Amino acid sequence: MSDSILVTGGAGFIGSHVVEALLGQGKTVFVLDNLSTGRLENLAAVQNHPRLDITVDTILNWPVMNRLVAQVDHVIHLAAAVGVRKILEEPVETITTNVRGTEIVLDCCHRHGKKLFLASTSEIYGKAGDRLHEEHDRILGSTTHRRWSYACTKAMDEFLALAYNYDKGLPVIIGRFFNTVGPRQTGRWGMVVPTFVGQALRGDPITVYGTGEQSRCFCHVSDAVRAVLGLMEEERAVGGVFNIGSEEEITILGLALKIKERTGSRSPIQVIPYDQAYESGFEDMLRRQPDTTKIRNLLGWRPTYDLDATIDSVVEYMRAQGGSG
Ligand code: UDP
Repeated sequence: MSDSILVTGGAGFIGSHVVEALLGQGKTVFVLDNLSTGRLENLAAVQNHPRLDITVDTILNWPVMNRLVAQVDHVIHLAAAVGVRKILEEPVETITTNVRGTEIVLDCCHRHGKKLFLASTSEIYGKAGDRLHEEHDRILGSTTHRRWSYACTKAMDEFLALAYNYDKGLPVIIGRFFNTVGPRQTGRWGMVVPTFVGQALRGDPITVYGTGEQSRCFCHVSDAVRAVLGLMEEERAVGGVFNIGSEEEITILGLALKIKERTGSRSPIQVIPYDQAYESGFEDMLRRQPDTTKIRNLLGWRPTYDLDATIDSVVEYMRAQGGSG
């Protein structure tokens, strides 16, 4: 990969791990983050690094974005409104940041001819859930359910990035993150693993939404970061869309029980209907499992952390933080 990289959303959960990995590889790293869900504490271990430059601003600020893109060789675009709870609570910010923001990032990359990694999401598959390969059809609910706005914004980002690639030859790579977890993820915006681990450590009820029969696959953030950096290094990845996630599936009730067991917690499990947990008519997907054959065939990539090791890394981190997340 090139010598200097701009990471939008670099103070976020995944972003801060990307930044640390890039610095570890000897790169110069520029971070642009508006700290909406990101936190400077996420970069505490590297904040005084001589090859790190942090700008607190939004990707919607075209002049700032343009100046930063001009300075670097490549861009890793992770800045986005994420988290089911945030999307429900701040729908305008979600749509604006994800659509207009990415439009600005793409415009600047095109002007300066810079290669771009675009972070997308498994959410774009919508209610389709079983062994999702990259060409799988997408099944989304009505526009009256705010949850689906996120899937639409990120799908629009993908369309636009692929259009820049097709139309203008911009080198873009799209990674669709499935549920990604690890140290520094906060439960504040609804993410289930830090929420459950925090509840277990505090002895609070573990809040399983819906029936708990819905399942997910959780990938450790350092495996996800390795995928991103591997894709950026691989010329054949340009113009492609890649699932990034674990194929190891667990129900949410199973996850609650496992987290109880691994923390030695005596927390009760509290089953809460979706209507109470989120809002009336909330739609969830029953399964969401990636098919990661494509990235495995291209890079030989596969996760190194299993679910137990992934959970243990979150428990260790949250214990060190005093049990909060
Ligand atoms: N979930 C839950 N309790 C919580 C938070 C989330 O049961 O306190 C459920 C949520 O309804 C979903 C799953 O856990 O079925 C994963 O939720 P998350 O928001 O982490 O990710 P996503 O829904 O995007 O997969």
